[in-house]
Amino acid sequence: MIDTSSPVLEVRDLARHFEVSSGLFSSATLTVKAVDGLSFTIKAGETLALVGESGCGKTTVTRMILRLDKTTRGHVLVDGQDVHALKGGDLRALRAKMQAVFQDPWSSLNPRMRVRDLVAEPLMASGKMSRKDIDLRVGQVLEAVGLRPDQAQNYPHEFSGGQRQRIAIASALVSNPRLIVLDEPVSALDVSIRSQIMNLFKDLQEEFGISYLLVAHDLATTRYLAHQVAVMYLGRIVEIGPSDQVFKNPQHPYTEALFSAALPGHPDDVHEEILLEGELPSPLDPPKGCPFHPRCPRKIGPICETQIPALTSHAGRPAVACHLY
Ligand code: SF4
Repeated sequence: MIDTSSPVLEVRDLARHFEVSSGLFSSATLTVKAVDGLSFTIKAGETLALVGESGCGKTTVTRMILRLDKTTRGHVLVDGQDVHALKGGDLRALRAKMQAVFQDPWSSLNPRMRVRDLVAEPLMASGKMSRKDIDLRVGQVLEAVGLRPDQAQNYPHEFSGGQRQRIAIASALVSNPRLIVLDEPVSALDVSIRSQIMNLFKDLQEEFGISYLLVAHDLATTRYLAHQVAVMYLGRIVEIGPSDQVFKNPQHPYTEALFSAALPGHPDDVHEEILLEGELPSPLDPPKGCPFHPRCPRKIGPICETQIPALTSHAGRPAVACHLY
Protein backbone atom coordinates (compact mmCIF):
# COMPACT_ATOMS: atom_id res chain seq x y z
CA MET A 1 0.00 0.00 0.00
CA ILE A 2 1.45 3.37 -1.03
CA ASP A 3 1.59 6.09 1.65
CA THR A 4 0.36 9.16 -0.21
CA SER A 5 -0.02 11.35 2.88
CA SER A 6 3.49 12.84 2.93
CA PRO A 7 5.62 13.89 -0.04
CA VAL A 8 8.51 11.75 -1.24
CA LEU A 9 10.21 14.85 -2.67
CA GLU A 10 9.82 18.33 -1.26
CA VAL A 11 11.64 21.24 -2.89
CA ARG A 12 11.52 24.46 -0.84
CA ASP A 13 12.53 27.87 -2.18
CA LEU A 14 15.38 26.30 -4.19
CA ALA A 15 17.83 28.69 -5.86
CA ARG A 16 21.13 28.47 -7.76
CA HIS A 17 22.97 31.68 -8.54
CA PHE A 18 26.32 31.92 -10.35
CA GLU A 19 28.80 34.80 -10.23
CA VAL A 20 30.27 35.56 -13.66
CA SER A 21 32.73 38.20 -14.83
CA SER A 22 31.04 41.25 -16.38
CA GLY A 23 33.73 41.67 -19.06
CA LEU A 24 37.24 40.86 -20.22
CA PHE A 25 38.79 44.00 -18.70
CA SER A 26 36.64 44.29 -15.61
CA SER A 27 36.92 42.73 -12.17
CA ALA A 28 33.22 43.35 -11.52
CA THR A 29 30.89 40.34 -11.40
CA LEU A 30 27.29 39.75 -12.40
CA THR A 31 24.90 37.31 -10.73
CA VAL A 32 23.13 34.81 -12.99
CA LYS A 33 20.00 33.46 -11.33
CA ALA A 34 19.74 30.09 -13.11
CA VAL A 35 17.08 28.94 -10.63
CA ASP A 36 15.38 31.36 -8.29
CA GLY A 37 12.93 30.26 -5.62
CA LEU A 38 11.36 26.98 -6.79
CA SER A 39 8.96 25.09 -4.55
CA PHE A 40 7.01 21.91 -5.31
CA THR A 41 6.27 18.47 -3.89
CA ILE A 42 5.84 14.99 -5.37
CA LYS A 43 3.78 12.37 -3.55
CA ALA A 44 4.46 8.63 -3.57
CA GLY A 45 3.49 7.00 -6.85
CA GLU A 46 3.15 10.35 -8.67
CA THR A 47 4.98 12.09 -11.49
CA LEU A 48 5.74 15.79 -11.73
CA ALA A 49 7.05 17.11 -15.06
CA LEU A 50 9.22 20.21 -15.44
CA VAL A 51 8.69 21.80 -18.85
CA GLY A 52 10.04 24.91 -20.57
CA GLU A 53 12.45 26.03 -23.29
CA SER A 54 16.14 25.06 -23.21
CA GLY A 55 17.96 27.33 -20.75
CA CYS A 56 14.97 27.79 -18.42
CA GLY A 57 16.77 26.05 -15.52
CA LYS A 58 15.28 22.51 -15.60
CA THR A 59 18.64 20.74 -15.73
CA THR A 60 20.05 22.85 -12.88
CA VAL A 61 17.04 21.87 -10.75
CA THR A 62 17.55 18.14 -11.36
CA ARG A 63 21.30 18.45 -10.66
CA MET A 64 20.59 20.08 -7.28
CA ILE A 65 17.99 17.44 -6.41
CA LEU A 66 20.48 14.64 -7.20
CA ARG A 67 23.17 16.59 -5.30
CA LEU A 68 25.35 16.86 -8.40
CA ASP A 69 25.38 20.64 -7.85
CA LYS A 70 25.22 22.77 -4.71
CA THR A 71 22.37 25.11 -3.82
CA THR A 72 22.55 28.85 -3.24
CA ARG A 73 19.39 28.83 -1.14
CA GLY A 74 16.56 26.51 -0.16
CA HIS A 75 16.16 22.82 0.61
CA VAL A 76 15.65 19.46 -1.12
CA LEU A 77 13.95 16.91 1.15
CA VAL A 78 13.54 13.23 0.24
CA ASP A 79 11.29 11.41 2.71
CA GLY A 80 11.82 14.39 5.01
CA GLN A 81 15.64 14.19 4.93
CA ASP A 82 17.61 17.19 3.69
CA VAL A 83 19.69 15.92 0.73
CA HIS A 84 22.29 18.69 1.06
CA ALA A 85 22.74 18.33 4.85
CA LEU A 86 23.56 14.59 5.01
CA LYS A 87 27.03 13.04 5.14
CA GLY A 88 28.73 9.63 5.15
CA GLY A 89 26.51 6.57 5.59
CA ASP A 90 23.30 8.63 5.83
CA LEU A 91 24.06 10.23 2.47
CA ARG A 92 24.86 6.84 0.86
CA ALA A 93 21.58 5.43 2.18
CA LEU A 94 19.69 8.41 0.79
CA ARG A 95 21.43 8.14 -2.59
CA ALA A 96 20.02 4.61 -2.93
CA LYS A 97 16.54 6.11 -2.63
CA MET A 98 17.18 8.59 -5.46
CA GLN A 99 18.11 7.33 -8.92
CA ALA A 100 18.17 8.75 -12.43
CA VAL A 101 17.54 7.56 -16.00
CA PHE A 102 19.08 9.75 -18.69
CA GLN A 103 18.43 10.36 -22.36
CA ASP A 104 21.15 8.27 -23.96
CA PRO A 105 21.32 4.68 -22.68
CA TRP A 106 24.48 4.09 -24.72
CA SER A 107 26.54 6.72 -22.90
CA SER A 108 25.19 5.81 -19.45
CA LEU A 109 26.26 2.13 -19.71
CA ASN A 110 29.94 1.11 -19.56
CA PRO A 111 30.42 -1.05 -22.72
CA ARG A 112 33.11 -3.19 -21.01
CA MET A 113 30.85 -4.35 -18.19
CA ARG A 114 28.36 -7.19 -18.30
CA VAL A 115 24.72 -6.31 -17.63
CA ARG A 116 24.93 -8.16 -14.32
CA ASP A 117 27.71 -5.87 -13.05
CA LEU A 118 26.12 -2.71 -14.48
CA VAL A 119 22.80 -3.38 -12.80
CA ALA A 120 24.39 -4.60 -9.54
CA GLU A 121 26.61 -1.51 -9.08
CA PRO A 122 24.39 0.28 -6.49
CA LEU A 123 24.10 -2.96 -4.46
CA MET A 124 27.87 -3.63 -4.59
CA ALA A 125 28.49 -0.06 -3.36
CA SER A 126 26.40 -0.70 -0.24
CA GLY A 127 28.50 -3.81 0.58
CA LYS A 128 25.60 -5.32 2.52
CA MET A 129 24.45 -8.16 0.23
CA SER A 130 25.95 -11.53 -0.66
CA ARG A 131 26.80 -12.31 -4.30
CA LYS A 132 23.95 -14.84 -4.40
CA ASP A 133 21.38 -12.30 -3.18
CA ILE A 134 22.70 -9.68 -5.60
CA ASP A 135 22.34 -12.09 -8.54
CA LEU A 136 18.81 -12.90 -7.42
CA ARG A 137 17.89 -9.22 -7.20
CA VAL A 138 19.46 -8.47 -10.61
CA GLY A 139 17.38 -11.28 -12.15
CA GLN A 140 14.22 -9.86 -10.53
CA VAL A 141 14.71 -6.33 -11.87
CA LEU A 142 15.66 -7.57 -15.36
CA GLU A 143 12.36 -9.44 -15.44
CA ALA A 144 10.52 -6.38 -14.09
CA VAL A 145 11.79 -4.30 -17.05
CA GLY A 146 10.96 -6.99 -19.64
CA LEU A 147 14.36 -8.72 -20.06
CA ARG A 148 15.38 -12.29 -19.18
CA PRO A 149 17.54 -13.03 -16.09
CA ASP A 150 20.03 -14.99 -18.28
CA GLN A 151 20.71 -11.79 -20.30
CA ALA A 152 22.67 -10.57 -17.23
CA GLN A 153 25.72 -12.29 -18.78
CA ASN A 154 25.60 -10.18 -21.98
CA TYR A 155 27.30 -6.87 -22.81
CA PRO A 156 25.41 -3.64 -23.69
CA HIS A 157 26.37 -3.80 -27.42
CA GLU A 158 24.39 -7.05 -27.72
CA PHE A 159 21.13 -5.16 -27.10
CA SER A 160 18.94 -2.77 -29.14
CA GLY A 161 18.47 0.88 -28.09
CA GLY A 162 15.18 0.15 -26.36
CA GLN A 163 16.67 -2.85 -24.52
CA ARG A 164 19.64 -0.72 -23.40
CA GLN A 165 17.21 1.80 -21.92
CA ARG A 166 15.54 -1.13 -20.12
CA ILE A 167 18.96 -2.03 -18.64
CA ALA A 168 19.42 1.59 -17.48
CA ILE A 169 15.96 1.43 -15.87
CA ALA A 170 16.86 -1.89 -14.16
CA SER A 171 20.01 -0.20 -12.72
CA ALA A 172 17.86 2.61 -11.36
CA LEU A 173 15.35 0.15 -9.95
CA VAL A 174 17.68 -2.32 -8.24
CA SER A 175 18.08 -0.38 -4.95
CA ASN A 176 14.29 0.03 -4.46
CA PRO A 177 14.33 3.82 -5.00
CA ARG A 178 11.60 6.15 -3.79
CA LEU A 179 12.33 8.72 -6.50
CA ILE A 180 13.67 8.42 -10.06
CA VAL A 181 14.66 11.50 -12.07
CA LEU A 182 13.74 10.84 -15.73
CA ASP A 183 15.79 13.23 -17.86
CA GLU A 184 14.48 13.05 -21.45
CA PRO A 185 14.08 9.27 -20.97
CA VAL A 186 12.63 8.43 -24.41
CA SER A 187 13.83 11.21 -26.71
CA ALA A 188 16.87 9.22 -28.01
CA LEU A 189 14.73 6.16 -28.83
CA ASP A 190 12.99 5.22 -32.08
CA VAL A 191 9.43 6.51 -32.16
CA SER A 192 8.19 2.92 -32.49
CA ILE A 193 9.53 1.91 -29.08
CA ARG A 194 8.92 5.14 -27.14
CA SER A 195 5.41 4.08 -26.15
CA GLN A 196 6.70 0.70 -24.88
CA ILE A 197 9.17 2.44 -22.56
CA MET A 198 6.57 5.00 -21.42
CA ASN A 199 4.19 2.14 -20.61
CA LEU A 200 6.99 0.43 -18.70
CA PHE A 201 7.48 3.57 -16.56
CA LYS A 202 3.76 3.60 -15.79
CA ASP A 203 3.66 -0.13 -14.93
CA LEU A 204 6.70 0.15 -12.63
CA GLN A 205 5.18 3.16 -10.89
CA GLU A 206 1.95 1.30 -10.30
CA GLU A 207 3.71 -1.83 -9.05
CA PHE A 208 6.36 -0.24 -6.82
CA GLY A 209 4.86 3.17 -5.96
CA ILE A 210 7.89 5.04 -7.32
CA SER A 211 7.74 8.82 -7.75
CA TYR A 212 9.17 10.38 -10.91
CA LEU A 213 10.52 13.84 -11.61
CA LEU A 214 10.28 14.06 -15.39
CA VAL A 215 12.16 16.47 -17.65
CA ALA A 216 11.00 16.19 -21.26
CA HIS A 217 10.86 18.49 -24.27
CA ASP A 218 8.18 16.33 -25.81
CA LEU A 219 4.84 17.49 -24.41
CA ALA A 220 3.08 14.29 -25.52
CA THR A 221 5.41 12.32 -23.19
CA THR A 222 4.68 14.79 -20.41
CA ARG A 223 0.92 14.58 -20.96
CA TYR A 224 1.02 10.77 -20.89
CA LEU A 225 3.21 10.31 -17.80
CA ALA A 226 2.74 13.34 -15.54
CA HIS A 227 0.15 13.84 -12.79
CA GLN A 228 1.44 17.37 -12.13
CA VAL A 229 3.18 19.77 -14.47
CA ALA A 230 5.37 22.79 -13.60
CA VAL A 231 6.12 25.26 -16.39
CA MET A 232 9.43 27.10 -15.99
CA TYR A 233 10.56 30.38 -17.51
CA LEU A 234 13.94 31.98 -16.74
CA GLY A 235 14.55 29.99 -13.56
CA ARG A 236 11.09 30.35 -12.02
CA ILE A 237 7.83 28.39 -12.09
CA VAL A 238 5.15 30.40 -13.92
CA GLU A 239 2.38 27.79 -13.70
CA ILE A 240 1.97 24.58 -11.72
CA GLY A 241 -0.94 22.22 -11.19
CA PRO A 242 -2.63 18.95 -12.18
CA SER A 243 -1.51 17.92 -15.66
CA ASP A 244 -5.11 17.52 -16.98
CA GLN A 245 -6.06 21.06 -15.99
CA VAL A 246 -2.86 22.74 -17.19
CA PHE A 247 -2.95 21.00 -20.59
CA LYS A 248 -6.69 21.55 -21.17
CA ASN A 249 -6.84 25.11 -19.92
CA PRO A 250 -3.40 26.76 -19.69
CA GLN A 251 -3.65 30.13 -17.90
CA HIS A 252 -0.23 31.77 -18.13
CA PRO A 253 0.42 33.38 -21.55
CA TYR A 254 3.76 31.53 -21.75
CA THR A 255 2.11 28.15 -21.06
CA GLU A 256 -0.53 28.95 -23.71
CA ALA A 257 2.16 29.73 -26.29
CA LEU A 258 4.35 26.73 -25.38
CA PHE A 259 1.47 24.26 -25.58
CA SER A 260 -0.07 25.82 -28.71
CA ALA A 261 3.18 25.25 -30.62
CA ALA A 262 3.23 21.50 -29.84
CA LEU A 263 1.25 18.79 -31.56
CA PRO A 264 -1.69 17.92 -29.30
CA GLY A 265 -1.14 14.72 -27.31
CA HIS A 266 -4.87 14.53 -26.50
CA PRO A 267 -8.03 15.71 -28.36
CA ASP A 268 -8.86 18.08 -25.45
CA ASP A 269 -5.55 19.91 -25.89
CA VAL A 270 -6.13 21.54 -29.27
CA HIS A 271 -5.36 25.28 -28.92
CA GLU A 272 -4.99 28.03 -31.49
CA GLU A 273 -1.31 28.48 -32.28
CA ILE A 274 0.29 31.53 -30.61
CA LEU A 275 3.56 32.69 -32.11
CA LEU A 276 5.96 34.18 -29.59
CA GLU A 277 8.21 37.02 -30.66
CA GLY A 278 11.88 37.09 -29.69
CA GLU A 279 14.13 34.64 -27.92
CA LEU A 280 14.36 33.56 -24.29
CA PRO A 281 16.14 36.59 -22.67
CA SER A 282 19.63 36.12 -21.25
CA PRO A 283 19.60 35.23 -17.54
CA LEU A 284 22.60 37.63 -17.32
CA ASP A 285 20.26 40.53 -17.95
CA PRO A 286 16.68 39.41 -17.25
CA PRO A 287 13.82 41.84 -17.95
CA LYS A 288 12.53 43.88 -14.99
CA GLY A 289 9.04 43.13 -13.65
CA CYS A 290 7.46 40.02 -15.18
CA PRO A 291 10.37 38.25 -16.94
CA PHE A 292 8.02 37.28 -19.79
CA HIS A 293 6.76 40.83 -20.55
CA PRO A 294 8.96 41.57 -23.65
CA ARG A 295 7.38 38.54 -25.42
CA CYS A 296 3.93 38.49 -23.84
CA PRO A 297 0.98 38.87 -26.27
CA ARG A 298 -1.39 39.68 -23.36
CA LYS A 299 0.65 42.31 -21.47
CA ILE A 300 -1.71 44.59 -19.52
CA GLY A 301 0.37 47.69 -18.87
CA PRO A 302 3.16 49.18 -16.72
CA ILE A 303 2.54 46.73 -13.86
CA CYS A 304 3.91 43.94 -16.09
CA GLU A 305 7.14 45.93 -16.63
CA THR A 306 7.72 46.87 -13.00
CA GLN A 307 6.37 44.17 -10.65
CA ILE A 308 7.29 40.48 -10.54
CA PRO A 309 3.98 38.57 -10.28
CA ALA A 310 3.76 36.10 -7.37
CA LEU A 311 2.80 32.46 -7.99
CA THR A 312 -0.74 32.21 -6.61
CA SER A 313 -3.73 29.91 -6.98
CA HIS A 314 -7.31 31.19 -7.43
CA ALA A 315 -10.52 29.22 -6.89
CA GLY A 316 -8.71 25.87 -6.71
CA ARG A 317 -7.14 26.31 -10.16
CA PRO A 318 -3.45 25.67 -10.94
CA ALA A 319 -1.13 28.30 -9.43
CA VAL A 320 0.01 30.94 -11.92
CA ALA A 321 2.48 33.87 -11.79
CA CYS A 322 0.74 36.53 -13.87
CA HIS A 323 -0.93 39.90 -13.16
CA LEU A 324 -3.93 38.84 -15.28
CA TYR A 325 -5.15 36.68 -12.38
FE1 SF4 B 1 2.02 38.79 -19.59
FE2 SF4 B 1 1.82 40.63 -17.69
FE3 SF4 B 1 1.09 38.12 -17.21
FE4 SF4 B 1 3.65 38.71 -17.49
S1 SF4 B 1 2.30 39.42 -15.86
S2 SF4 B 1 2.62 36.99 -18.38
S3 SF4 B 1 3.56 40.31 -19.04
S4 SF4 B 1 0.15 39.53 -18.65
